[in-house]
Amino acid sequence: MIPGDGIGREVTPQAVKVIQAATATTKRPIEFVEFDWGADKYLREGISLPAGAVEMLRDEFDAVLFGALGDPRVPSNQHAADILLGLRFKLDLYVNARPVELLHDRLTPLRDRTEKDIRLMVIRENTEGLYVGVGGFFKKDTADEIAVQEDVNSRKGVERIIRYAFEYARQNGLKRVCMSDKSNAMTFAHDLWQRVFKTVRQEYADIDSRHLYIDTLAMEIVRDPRQFDVIVTCNLFGDIISDLGAQLAGGLGLAPSANIHPGETSLFEPVHGSAPNIAGKGIANPLGSVLASAMMLEYLGWKPEAGALRNAVRAALRQNYVTPDLGGDKHTVEVGDWLAKEAVTNFVAQT
Ligand code: ATP
Repeated sequence: MIPGDGIGREVTPQAVKVIQAATATTKRPIEFVEFDWGADKYLREGISLPAGAVEMLRDEFDAVLFGALGDPRVPSNQHAADILLGLRFKLDLYVNARPVELLHDRLTPLRDRTEKDIRLMVIRENTEGLYVGVGGFFKKDTADEIAVQEDVNSRKGVERIIRYAFEYARQNGLKRVCMSDKSNAMTFAHDLWQRVFKTVRQEYADIDSRHLYIDTLAMEIVRDPRQFDVIVTCNLFGDIISDLGAQLAGGLGLAPSANIHPGETSLFEPVHGSAPNIAGKGIANPLGSVLASAMMLEYLGWKPEAGALRNAVRAALRQNYVTPDLGGDKHTVEVGDWLAKEAVTNFVAQT
């Protein structure tokens, strides 16, 4: 458990409480170890990601439940880059899975759309693309300045993420995969995506696969989100399209994500950041963190507990037992307590 900064420290303990309620009911052993990595430690000790941390997480833990990083006292956000990007790259968490699922009709800004219309998974490549930090400045701070940022795409990297998307579809009984790029303009990097996609899709004849340019996808996902089950795309486009998706399904406070290397220690976090504007006020919405926890439990193979968490979130939305960002008047801890009780009730109701 790495709560991090700001509201990460408020929502993560709530998620842990709900997990513990669910796993106590099913008597599954789960042990949490908390790490205080974040802005306070960085400012106090100059340490962001401690030496040996990656190896320790890889060797001794099954999963990481992450909060958020970001603090106005660290304007460079260096600690966040070191910790989160460090873990993503060094644990080689190449899948960023971001479900877009409308859990209550009233939460979507799209007119006349209901829960059954908005249910898709965005699979974002998480270790390459424009986020590798390759580039530089020339004549910095002069009128002639040039800035270069390289878009790095390896065949291995592209292939494994596209394959993951097809496997995800197959394993979850989903029939449609859409690969999105900008190969008409990015004629080298995304030409590679095109070629790999054409090869890999041949192995998945049971799945209906298609391609859309990212600009078309952005239009289509708003016009008719029912078209999509699984979307797979590069790091940058996945970042953008999944935030668009988050908004279609109720906003940042509700959106979960998973950073996965199949079979290895993986990391689960709400999509939102540290939200310094509301940190410390006790009003942060914990539902994104609880839904990220459900993804974590599912990854560990604990489906009933994951289901109990999701059902508890649905019940809170139905009863409007939610924080102000979703139109409620409850505090973070009140919602956490309520969900923990509801998760247990849920099991009792099932048995
Ligand atoms: P980042 O750390 O990614 O730069 P940020 O901390 O500046 O982001 P976010 O946390 O991503 O901003 O969210 C933007 C705004 O959305 C927040 O300032 C806050 O008002 C609202 N918000 C985000 N998450 C939540 C939440 N869990 N509960 C309530 N409001 C939220």
